[in-house]
Amino acid sequence: MSRPLTVVTGGSRGIGAATCVRLASDGHDLVLGYASDEGAAARTAAAVREAGARCVTVRADTSSEEDVERLFDSAAPLGRVTGLVNNAGVTGPLGRLADASADVLRRVVDVNLLGYLLCCRRAARDMAAHGSGSIVNVSSAAATLGSPGEYVHYAATKAAVDALTVGLSKELGPDGVRVNAVAPGVIETGMHAAMGDPDRPAKAAATRIPLGRPGQDFEIAAAVSWLLSPEAAYATGTVLRVSGGL
Ligand code: NAP
Repeated sequence: MSRPLTVVTGGSRGIGAATCVRLASDGHDLVLGYASDEGAAARTAAAVREAGARCVTVRADTSSEEDVERLFDSAAPLGRVTGLVNNAGVTGPLGRLADASADVLRRVVDVNLLGYLLCCRRAARDMAAHGSGSIVNVSSAAATLGSPGEYVHYAATKAAVDALTVGLSKELGPDGVRVNAVAPGVIETGMHAAMGDPDRPAKAAATRIPLGRPGQDFEIAAAVSWLLSPEAAYATGTVLRVSGGL
């Protein structure tokens, strides 16, 4: 049996990096996409190879159609792409919608929604042609919470990701392609510092996460790996919430 070959967007850091390492140890070869942090991508790729997997790193902005096509084309030397983890995401600064700039709104929609659509489209074309494949979209608990005062625009893109997951799963089910999502709660990654509050996970743990702690990147990676695996062969169109009860 050939090894699964999975494209992970935003694989250089955070949840994407943990997912790459987990998938490598579960027997996947990887195409690791990243936006700009070449050093982080190289470090994650080294950990992936240490786990026995083959890996190519590709600098590709998922909001660019041309970059997405190049990302998937880069898989060719490793074989046929069998999986996609749509993970690259951004929030912009924390705050109320009234204070957000149009540039931030556009960027969040471009990366979190258009980027996911472009990657899903390419995966759908390739996977349906072969009659098999699996896509996991990294959504967010924000999709149902709405995130008032923090980033309702981001929450809206994640709700769209959930709709994309349900619709595409129905479209591609007859082609043998499964489409699912994982919705993390508050996970300790660099994303919170990037949005302006590095203490956000600790604050959320103290005030609103029922399990009383933030999640860890490897806890999301485990859910993603299960959804990609043959053990989840009958799961499609589901949004698996991994949020400590949030
Ligand atoms: P992170 O630590 O900030 O990492 C973001 C990753 O995405 C990096 O690898 C970055 O690449 C890449 N990236 C950003 N913009 C990109 C673009 N336009 N094209 C390609 N790659 C891009 O984020 P994270 O916390 O791991 O979040 C990963 C996913 O989980 C996101 O979809 C996020 O919405 C979702 N999520 C996170 C949390 C949380 O609490 N952390 C909760 C719910 C959902 P570089 O390294 O090159 O910059």
